[in-house]
Amino acid sequence: LEGEIAKLGRLNIIGQLAAGLGHEIRNPMTTIRGFLQMLQSKTDLLVFQNYFELMIEELDRANLIITNFLSLAKNKPTEIKRVNLNKLLENLFPLLIADAYSQDKKCIFQPGKIKEIDIDSNEITQLVLNLARNGLEAMQPNGCLTIETFMEEDSVVLSVKDEGKGIDEENLKKLGDPFFTTKENGTGLGLPMCFTIANRYHAHIDVDTGPDGTTFFVRFPRPCDEIE
Ligand code: ADP
Ligand code: MG
Repeated sequence: LEGEIAKLGRLNIIGQLAAGLGHEIRNPMTTIRGFLQMLQSKTDLLVFQNYFELMIEELDRANLIITNFLSLAKNKPTEIKRVNLNKLLENLFPLLIADAYSQDKKCIFQPGKIKEIDIDSNEITQLVLNLARNGLEAMQPNGCLTIETFMEEDSVVLSVKDEGKGIDEENLKKLGDPFFTTKENGTGLGLPMCFTIANRYHAHIDVDTGPDGTTFFVRFPRPCDEIE
């Protein structure tokens, strides 16, 4: 199954709403969290301890959704620099290894010889993290995530390949829809963020999926002022 996904129009409207709403909702949540913690410290009853823990966890989850949503909505000016994607990935690698390790999985990076591209490192870091985390989460323990870079005609390509079960046709259609998630604790905002970021660089995200795993490709156009 292959497909290219771009559902950006909808995202802009939702994003604008979210930016305002997110901030407003966060303040009362912070207050509630504070009082919950205070009450939790005052009770000795074990059942109540568990309830408080659950309430705080749920609040934190809601907060995470808002955080993700805000960074999706944020239209902050980017800091574009000419960057070697391999360097960025090398810097990011220890973090990915740690993520993988904590789930008993592996992660390898195979840098290819690539041209430099004009990107905001923070944004592309977010993009890679989202794809890599999805890949890791899709796999059973011992699975291996492979990140590669290579040239394809004039495009610099980043691929993130996992050994998960793949994405079925039904879900493939929903990929990139805000809030689409199949995970119990998912937010469904990771991929929308990836698509939003990629779009800023006129990069394309493609997915190739089957029963042996899924590969996400991000194809960056080469800087047009570059002379060989
Ligand atoms: P979340 O990770 O919070 O669920 P995402 O937007 O990152 O949200 O992903 C949305 C959904 O897309 C996931 O819940 C999963 O069903 C599917 N998905 C994304 N990446 C993969 C992958 N590498 N393998 C299988 N399914 C995936
Ligand atoms: Mg995700």
